[in-house]
Amino acid sequence: MTKMNLNNLENRVRKTIAKYRLLKKNDKVIVAISGGKDSTLIAFLLKKFGYRISALHINLHLGPYTKRCMDAVKKFCSENRVPLHIYDIRKNFGCSICYLRAGIQSRLKVKNCAICGVIKKWILNRRARELKADKIVTGHNLDDESQTALMNLFKGNVLLGITTGPVSGIIQDKKFVPRIKPLFFIPEEEIKQYARKMNLPVVYEKCPCALDSYRIKTREFVNLLGNKDKLRIVKNNLKIIERLREKIKNDKVSKIAYCKICEEPARGEICKRCSLLKNFS
Ligand code: AMP
Ligand code: ZN
Repeated sequence: MTKMNLNNLENRVRKTIAKYRLLKKNDKVIVAISGGKDSTLIAFLLKKFGYRISALHINLHLGPYTKRCMDAVKKFCSENRVPLHIYDIRKNFGCSICYLRAGIQSRLKVKNCAICGVIKKWILNRRARELKADKIVTGHNLDDESQTALMNLFKGNVLLGITTGPVSGIIQDKKFVPRIKPLFFIPEEEIKQYARKMNLPVVYEKCPCALDSYRIKTREFVNLLGNKDKLRIVKNNLKIIERLREKIKNDKVSKIAYCKICEEPARGEICKRCSLLKNFS
């Protein structure tokens, strides 16, 4: 990747931030940092652009993989003078994510990444609110987003993606910290090249629990199409979603309540985390 390409990636990220009004200059920003290339790169760029960022890492206790991620996160944060908050799932939930998943999957048919995604979102929102953050940043990239859009379509449920976009959806509530995705339009391959070029301390291997065969198949399919088509998929999906949001803005699904168990924002009486953990022993 030449210097020009690096600038080009940076400019496109700046453009996304400006076009979708993702950040204000004085926002207190929490970057959800996993130790992977995407979230580390966006932390690096936001710091470079002059935003007020700190990082939040969730220690999921996945053995040696977790240790490698945590070492990378610590190295990045100390090299770049980014304050780091660590949330330990074992201390807060009483067990590792694997144990939680096993308990849930003995009762319900839910995939690994789906469970982990729900738990991580719940933690990020609660912790970011406690830290008085204005925004949560995640490292989702063009590849993630085009795969998810197609998977929702294949499942016949475009509504599943109703909250997606460079800025997360229709929820506006004092207890909800908006999540933003400044790498929404950036292909994974470019992120990898940039991270390598800048020698960012990053774990390149995938999470050992990411075994969703449907996502793997969709990834292989989308990769056959190439970046132009990935962009078409996410851009056209955004158009569909905007229309859907407009249509359903007064429906019950758009209303936010507080979970009866944990009091976090929820779309029904009980939030997704608490319905997964119900009867958990
Ligand atoms: P994933 O769902 O693993 O593809 O991750 C999507 C995004 O969630 C990443 O780009 C990060 O911003 C965030 N994330 C994933 N894992 C963690 C973690 N252990 N701690 C903090 N943020 C995370
Ligand atoms: Zn709850």
